[in-house]
Amino acid sequence: MHALIFPSVDWQTSLKNLVTDPAELLSILKLDPKLLPAAEAASELFPLRVPREFVARMEPGNPKDPLLLQVLPLEAEFHEQAGFTDDPLQEAESRPVPGVVHKYRDRVLLILSGACAINCRYCFRRHFPYAENQISGPAKAEALSYIKQTPDLKEVILSGGDPLVTSDKRLFSLIDELEQIPQLERLRIHTRLPVVVPSRITTALADRLKRSRLNIVMVLHINHPQEISPALNDACQLLSARGVHLLNQAVLLKAVNDQAQIQVALSRALFKAGILPYYLFLFDPVRGASHFDIPQQQAQLIAAQMQADLPGYLMPRLAQEIPGRASKTLILPDPNALGTF
Ligand SMILES: *Cc1c(COP(=O)(O)O)cnc(C)c1O
Ligand code: SF4
Repeated sequence: MHALIFPSVDWQTSLKNLVTDPAELLSILKLDPKLLPAAEAASELFPLRVPREFVARMEPGNPKDPLLLQVLPLEAEFHEQAGFTDDPLQEAESRPVPGVVHKYRDRVLLILSGACAINCRYCFRRHFPYAENQISGPAKAEALSYIKQTPDLKEVILSGGDPLVTSDKRLFSLIDELEQIPQLERLRIHTRLPVVVPSRITTALADRLKRSRLNIVMVLHINHPQEISPALNDACQLLSARGVHLLNQAVLLKAVNDQAQIQVALSRALFKAGILPYYLFLFDPVRGASHFDIPQQQAQLIAAQMQADLPGYLMPRLAQEIPGRASKTLILPDPNALGTF
């Protein structure tokens, strides 16, 4: 017997009870044990990690479930493909001090934690050297001093890993310190935790964000409408009621969400939960994940089909990160992009 969800447990307990054994994942979902050897081998490249709340959103018996495909280690991860690298966004070149990624003029990324509640197979940071790049201990003072000495900065983005894996104590003390830096106006939190462990959004956290002098933006990462649970809806209400702006970024992933009708359903479901679609990213060419890639022309066609079905404010910006540029690069939807697929 596998207890799938524990409705009454707190988020720390959920994080201690992740599914990390491929055999257990297959057994919970009643999937063919033939998938096991590959799953075990590929989990050596990047461990399996998935909260039980997220597993509960998957359809048992369906090896093509769009949520399962995001976490299940596959043989395809061993296929080397030219152009797919360990650091596709070249973040190593934009780290002025450990744990800080500064690429764009008025905002800076702080790597608060190396850990995530979930390991997404397509993550562009799956090879990120977290051990030497997160702001704990002396690195925190160094990061704060870098921000203080950079007058152009108006926004700090807490990222990771997942910054909400961090305890409230550590998180609140960092927010206290950021609030004291006069030039800062905005604080952004990039997180997938409210999606995969919705109980992370406690009243205490929401209240602390409400009290901030900074404008608070939370950018969630939801790729498929099936990820939106009643518990996530509740978490979003708690945040919206306290003035937190909720946005979503998604990644276009082959076999997961590479159809206009799924994207349209996602935008509509996001809006019902009080979240605005922000970015729809083209896949970043990270080593071990080339099987998620789709051609840019196909993405442009999907975007054009979405645009025909959605109000402008529910249309995410199709974008890509090209190393060396001053911002993300927007890509236009193209109804004529038929390409070769
Ligand atoms: C994506 C990113 C940001 C945020 O960019 P926005 O377009 O403002 O969402 C900031 N810093 C880094 C290093 C990034 O990769
Ligand atoms: S939650 Fe985000 S940072 Fe963590 S593995 Fe998934 S995509 Fe990567």
